[in-house]
This record gives sequence, C-alpha cells and structure tokens, in this order.
Amino acid sequence: MSAKPPALEITDLVKRYPNGMEALKSVSLEIAEGEFFGLLGPNGAGKSTMIHCTTGLARPTSGSVKIFGHDAVNHYREAREAVALAPQEINLDMFLTLEETLDLHGGYFGMSKADRKERTAELLDAFSLTSKRDERTRTLSGGMKRRLTLARALMHRPRLLILDEPTAGVDIELRLELWQYIEKINREGTTVMLTTHYLEEAERMCDRIAFINHGEIAAHGTIEELSARYGVNSLEDAYLELVGRQELSRSHVTAEPV
Ligand code: ADP
Ligand code: MG
Repeated sequence: MSAKPPALEITDLVKRYPNGMEALKSVSLEIAEGEFFGLLGPNGAGKSTMIHCTTGLARPTSGSVKIFGHDAVNHYREAREAVALAPQEINLDMFLTLEETLDLHGGYFGMSKADRKERTAELLDAFSLTSKRDERTRTLSGGMKRRLTLARALMHRPRLLILDEPTAGVDIELRLELWQYIEKINREGTTVMLTTHYLEEAERMCDRIAFINHGEIAAHGTIEELSARYGVNSLEDAYLELVGRQELSRSHVTAEPV
C-alpha cells in the first residue's frame, strides 16, 4: 500500500466564479497530517475560495482537492466527514439554542444521541458557554458566536480543522482561550489550517505557512524559509515583501542622531 495520504492535497486548483472572476489560478498545496498550517494573504487573495473548494461550499472549476486521500468532489461524503470549517462569516441559526446548534450538527454527521450529549457538554465547557446553553444564538455577543461556530465545527471530531479568520472581533482573553484549545487538539493529532491577519498568531503557532496573492501561491515554507526567500528577518517583513509594501517595515530603523 502507498504511504499515508496527506491531510490536504490540492493540485492545480482553478476557481472561476460565474462572473468571470478567476479567484484561484492554479494552486497546488500539500499539508501533512498533524501540521499546523497558516494561509496568509491580503483581502481578496483567494483564501476563502480555496477553503470553500476544500469544504464543498464551492465547486472547483478544474484541478483536484483531496482530504486524507478522499476527493472533495467525487468522494464528498468521506471528504466532508474528515474536515471541518469554522467559516469567516458567522452562519448560525438564530432561532436555535446553543445546545440545539451543536446537537443538530452532530446529527448531520450520524453521531449517536448519547455521544452528541457528551460532546456538546464538553465543547460548551471548553469554550465557556455552558451557562448560555439554553439561550438562542441571536442573544450571544460577537465573540460568543465566534466560539460557538468553532465548537460546532469540532462537534464531529474532524481530522482536519480549517479556521477562516477565527479571531476577527474576538477579545484578547477569549482569543487566548481559543488558541489554547486549538493547540491542544493539534497536539492530540488534529491537523489545522488557519487564515488570519494577525501575523503574530501565525508566527507563534504555524509549523509552515503559504503566502497567497492574486489567486496564486507566491511562496510556502517555515518562517525561516520564507524570511530567507525574501531576504528579510521576520514573517512581517516577508509579508510586506509579498504585498509590495516594504516601506512599512518596522526594521527600517533610521540611524540614531549623533
Ligand atoms: P480572501 O478570503 O483571501 O479575502 P476570497 O476568496 O474571498 O479572498 O476572494 C477572492 C476573489 O474572488 C476576490 O476578488 C473576491 O471578490 C472574489 N469572489 C469571492 N467570492 C465570489 C463570488 N461568489 N462571486 C464572484 N467573485 C467572488
Ligand atoms: Mg476570506
């Protein structure tokens, strides 16, 4: 038998929207099982499109996406079971309670009632939402909605967790809590792919990073590799090279006046 398949294998992926916008030009990317991977790039680069092609929310124009060896289009069910998405746009059903939100999602994935109950309690606790369990989701603050979205993604114990700007609008302590939990499940074996605009988060957590711009992967590797590739000393400076804004670099310290 062949070696273990990668958690995510994207090959020559092209996505053209019906309006003609070519959001992904020919993207190839591989993420090994167990990695913590960062996908960084400016707004409009194609990050969400790539994620949507991976999670079945958008149909690739051409090319392939495989999740643990399962084709995301032709073997949708197997692929979809292995992956979870905490989307950039929060899409909770406002009329469900928190508990119902998680229970319903577990139901979609065929979890038993007992398992759903246990997992719901565990996740509500992990994200400090237990006291709100019977409230409707519309009553939650933005940060709580964000955490519930993540709890929902984790409900069926995915092997690959994709986080699309998970900390946008989340306050500091909740952000730390969220990362603590994600780092824990990553240590326990869950592969993580993250997009964020907070470079320090990517720097702290990601084993490897890909830079995407204008629908193309411009570079990928460890932070050291990316820095070397752009001839700079930090992820931030490498990013500024990517987007052509070197003049913003904080390392351009002018000489002290004598
Ligand atoms: P990112 O997540 O990196 O900000 P997106 O993947 O959301 O980027 O968008 C990539 C490009 O595709 C942008 O130019 C965006 O305007 C365009 N785009 C995204 N979704 C659609 C859509 N449904 N129809 C047409 N164009 C889209
Ligand atoms: Mg996006």
